[in-house]
Amino acid sequence: PERLILILGDQLDLQSSALRDINPKSDQIIMIESANEAQYVWTHKAKIALFLSAMRHFAVELEKQGYPLTYIKSSPLSIVEVLREQIQNNKVKRLVCIEPGEWRLKQALEALAKDLGIELEMREDEHFYCSRQEFVEWAANKKEFRLEYFYRLMRKRHNILVDREGNPEGGQWNFDQDNRKPYAKKGPGIIDAPASFEVDAITQEVLDWVQKTYPDHPGSLDVFNWPVTREQAVQALEYFVEYRLRNFGVYQDAMWTDTPFGWHSILSSALNLKLLNPREVVNAVLVAWRKYSLDLSTIEGFIRQILGWREFVRGMYYLDMPKMAQDNYYQHQRPLPKWYWNGQTQMACMKDAIGQTLQYGYAHHIQRLMVTGNFALLAEILPQEVCEWYLAIYVDAIEWVELPNTAGMALFANGGRFTSKPYIASGAYIKRMSNYCGSCKYKPEVRYGEDACPITTLYWNFLIKHRDQFEASPRTRLMTANLKRISDEDQKEITLHAQKILNHLDDL
Ligand code: FAD
Ligand code: SF4
Repeated sequence: PERLILILGDQLDLQSSALRDINPKSDQIIMIESANEAQYVWTHKAKIALFLSAMRHFAVELEKQGYPLTYIKSSPLSIVEVLREQIQNNKVKRLVCIEPGEWRLKQALEALAKDLGIELEMREDEHFYCSRQEFVEWAANKKEFRLEYFYRLMRKRHNILVDREGNPEGGQWNFDQDNRKPYAKKGPGIIDAPASFEVDAITQEVLDWVQKTYPDHPGSLDVFNWPVTREQAVQALEYFVEYRLRNFGVYQDAMWTDTPFGWHSILSSALNLKLLNPREVVNAVLVAWRKYSLDLSTIEGFIRQILGWREFVRGMYYLDMPKMAQDNYYQHQRPLPKWYWNGQTQMACMKDAIGQTLQYGYAHHIQRLMVTGNFALLAEILPQEVCEWYLAIYVDAIEWVELPNTAGMALFANGGRFTSKPYIASGAYIKRMSNYCGSCKYKPEVRYGEDACPITTLYWNFLIKHRDQFEASPRTRLMTANLKRISDEDQKEITLHAQKILNHLDDL
């Protein structure tokens, strides 16, 4: 073929700009299943299965529509090695693709094209509201990057929740304060279950194959309920706006045992595979707002995640790579505790968040940020090991979105380039936002000693250790104010106990 058009596993969009000018007579599409991709990190079985099933369903769709497709099944080679073979064997002159969501692969494709002396046409990913160039222009000359200003610009530019004069709907840009309630004391009550999808023959074949090929990989395939086609993704969206959106906002941060999905949308994997477009998600939410007279705070809170955070972290990823993957602001060096991979810990909050992650490949934002992420920061774990875990274990994890959230937001590994302060909290926060502490061997309010909650001990230890730095900045000064109420002696005990914990993290 004249041109080879590469479609990656997270680019499953029939409207993609890569397909726009395809000439079926002289062009060829290529999709590659590479074992390398699954083994590059210790990937959750459900994540491997989701990608493969979604890719195979997309291939069927392409063939149905008459596109010329070469589909390489379960290759032991890397994507780039397969491409090299195909390009050389078939005398391809040009390689066309959408910019990959992973910096490493982007570099590798550029190097390959150069090496083979062929033309590479890497097209903009039009899935996103904000183009790469637009983000670069917004970021120019800024020293600090804050979601809030970017988000306001997006709202105005795309005319979402603004009036004719460009003022925010409801007189406020951000209703975050209304979106932080815990569940009632007696529990979350009945939550409408997530939409469910039948496992068809293609998915079943993939599930059997993954179980056979990667038996030792983390995670379970017992419950596999992810949308793997465009049709299912649309159903998931419709179901969410009809049944679950109404309580999304208020309980966005709440956690409860055996409540893995809360009122969340569970749309991230469909969005990230590009089975869903963010514009249709935002539009569906706006329609539901009027139709069901929902609270503006819920609608704004949800749209902020999609139009704000999701676009913002992508912009930051490309702006800061490859440095973002190497940053280690606090010079933390400890290895990740082994129980991150099997959930075998006595800390009830970690056990629940990791347990559901292993079962479903999913945890909601606050579990990722304030439970597993918070602990990893307080326990001084090497950021690269933490990032590898997040990339491996969540079905929605693709580097452009995983890395900025983990390294940048949860671990403060870039020294706060886009967060004003480290997101750290003691057991008191987890107690307030969940029922985890009730069934835990540890006590959230105890700072040291046998009963002490390790998160509480490590929290105070972190503040003691970084006190000077926290006090130097007006944004973090308040956080150390409470330290003044802890006697010097108790502070010494906290430091000693923390050291014990840090030296035996695997035993928690
Ligand atoms: P909802 O809570 O229903 O939110 C709606 C949508 O908003 C999500 O589907 C997602 O597309 C978007 N969104 C919400 N928060 C963010 C955010 N911080 N950044 C980008 N998009 C956001 N999200 C991923 O998609 N992939 C990841 O690999 C990923 N890794 C994360 C790692 C850490 C340490 C943290 C703190 C967050 C991470 N997130 C990641 C963001 C967020 O936790 C997930 O998008 C969300 O939990 C997915 O569940 P949901 O679809 O039910 O989301
Ligand atoms: Fe988690 Fe501490 Fe509460 Fe136990 S006591 S559940 S470790 S916050």
